[in-house]
Amino acid sequence: MSVPFGRRRLTGVVIGHGDGSAVAEGKLRAVHEVLDAEPLFPPALLRLLLWAADYYHHPIGEVFATALPARLRRQGRKEQQERQEQKERKEQAGERKEEQATPPQPLKPLPGAFTDGPALNPEQQAAVTEISGHLKGFHAFLLDGVTGSGKTEVYMQLMAQVLGQGRQCLVLVPEIGLTPQTLGRFSERFGGSYSAEGSYSAEGSYETVALHSGLGEAERIRAWRKAASGAAAIVIGTRSAVFTPLARPGLIVVDEEHDSSFKQQDGFRYSARDLAVARARQEGVCAVLGSATPSLESLRNAAAGRFTRLALPRPAGAAAAPRRRIVDMGTATVHGGLSEAVLDRIQSHLRRGNQVLVFINRRGFAPVLDCSGCGWVSECGDCSARMTVHAVPKGLRCHHCGGGAPLPRVCPACRSRAGLQARGLGTQQLEHLLKEAFSPLPVLRMDRDSTRSRKRLDGMLQQIHEGQPCILLGTQMIAKGHHFPRITLVVVVNADSGLFSADFRGQEFLSQTLLQVAGRAGRGGQPGEVIIQSRHAAHPDVQALAAASYADIASRLLDERQRRGLPPFTHLCLLWAEYRLMPPCLDFLGKAAARLQDGGDSGVQLIGPMPAPMEKRGGRWRAQLLLRSSNRARLQKALNGLVAGGVEDIKKPRGLRWGIDVDPLDLI
Ligand code: ADP
Ligand code: ZN
Ligand code: ZN
Repeated sequence: MSVPFGRRRLTGVVIGHGDGSAVAEGKLRAVHEVLDAEPLFPPALLRLLLWAADYYHHPIGEVFATALPARLRRQGRKEQQERQEQKERKEQAGERKEEQATPPQPLKPLPGAFTDGPALNPEQQAAVTEISGHLKGFHAFLLDGVTGSGKTEVYMQLMAQVLGQGRQCLVLVPEIGLTPQTLGRFSERFGGSYSAEGSYSAEGSYETVALHSGLGEAERIRAWRKAASGAAAIVIGTRSAVFTPLARPGLIVVDEEHDSSFKQQDGFRYSARDLAVARARQEGVCAVLGSATPSLESLRNAAAGRFTRLALPRPAGAAAAPRRRIVDMGTATVHGGLSEAVLDRIQSHLRRGNQVLVFINRRGFAPVLDCSGCGWVSECGDCSARMTVHAVPKGLRCHHCGGGAPLPRVCPACRSRAGLQARGLGTQQLEHLLKEAFSPLPVLRMDRDSTRSRKRLDGMLQQIHEGQPCILLGTQMIAKGHHFPRITLVVVVNADSGLFSADFRGQEFLSQTLLQVAGRAGRGGQPGEVIIQSRHAAHPDVQALAAASYADIASRLLDERQRRGLPPFTHLCLLWAEYRLMPPCLDFLGKAAARLQDGGDSGVQLIGPMPAPMEKRGGRWRAQLLLRSSNRARLQKALNGLVAGGVEDIKKPRGLRWGIDVDPLDLI
């Protein structure tokens, strides 16, 4: 609705109404115009949003804003004016008043649009049977299945049942998981076809809409309205799609549930994975969370009986689990960052006509430029971080703030020319090395720099799918979701980056990423091979990456978390502050801590205030106060007390930003 606010006119959302008011009658103002005849949020979704505002201690207005497509949020004055004029014209013409309320449309699949999948193996069948038995109400499942075990096949069989009942399916995928391939798989099964932009033609089929950041505003609203009216049978989307209104929800799937892109890292810091489960509860439907490398949180929820765990322990179809081994970079003969053993194996796989994937978690040419003469390093002036050397376009670039500098020809500190050296390995340098070693075979580099153009990305994917021998080189973005049947060898160039991370989740993320990458090998039925290079080959955590199953690694990590009193055995909340100076941040958090102590719950431990591990970012200093408790209710109570007790009123300089991060994902 549109309401008067001071002298302005703003768009608001009605969350309830009453008979009386504490405000004097003369001061109450009338709603200017009701914009939507039907509520924008169906009741269960509204309940979820109210719950989320409370749980994340975030202003309800911003929660609504996150949940609405930008245009509905703004619904500018011009548009309102146009609507008003249109209405008046119609009324003058003697037409009945507009009804903007389209009744929910029934799902009407045309016969023949739906194709059957392969016959399920016994584990898949058991999973489908178990979940099918609960489709009438809320239940949360963890589908814990190794890569290629046929999880997607399980989702699709369940979706077919739900669609058959005339209900809709919501499928959440990680940001980089929403590939044309993923969409293609769903459209192949349920009918219709997608354009490169993600729009969909649904001739004779269940209609599917995709919601992702690449959509234009008009497309997004169209998709959103189709979901809300019930015209769209399947809604596939990234994080914020968890807020899509659905006329007749029947199932919520979260694929790759461990993926960190489900957690929004700024503003309203919600976890779409957790909200998916909360929403399923509100809607009275099942939530299925799937992963080859489940988060420790979900494994804990399963162990505690809150989720039902269903395991798919072996690859479906013809594939066998790939062989993994470690190459000790301390003793190996190394050429430009690759060991001789790795170069040999790449050669041999290519010769057999196969494709090779090389994974390195660093884009650019080299992670750092330094001077051996005086010890200067390419620090970013605005962040506590080093700038990366980039070859194309040439320069130093900070991956944290986006800032940069020209590549110096002489050391900025001691003016030496000879001492300057690029250290370590990034995708651009590796691309160069691989091209030299394996010319004329193509080396396709996929990282954030090389895939800014959608066309170029599609071109590379096309080339890989044609199946000719080539080397695919890339970062995170090639680790997940893709199905490249001709890849038989996966090389992890450097497994050590996450090993000594400042973040307590570093190990968990490292093993998840490496096992996801490893899962790209041997998907087409040929045996796969995985080689992991490490400078800490004897380290038990590295050994585990080669030998252990994810279940073993996870259970060891869980033991350690329990010993150290870390999530998922305790609950964390981060109170953060940032400003152009550090002391006011620490001062603000110190005062907040004092109030919490006055609140006096000994069951909530305060850690800090202290500078964040990355003290400075984008020119702002950052500090944090951690709250920890083994009892979530007490933690929430302490936070409520803090917010109600006016943390907002603590004196602080203008421009100091602060916020609350419930269940923070990283503490960097
Ligand atoms: P995941 O989602 O667990 O990685 P997918 O569902 O993508 O696994 O399945 C991996 C491959 O195995 C796909 O090519 C899929 O078509 C195939 N597949 C899945 N289930 C079966 C089955 N029961 N029989 C034969 N092939 C299957
Ligand atoms: Zn120098
Ligand atoms: Zn920076």
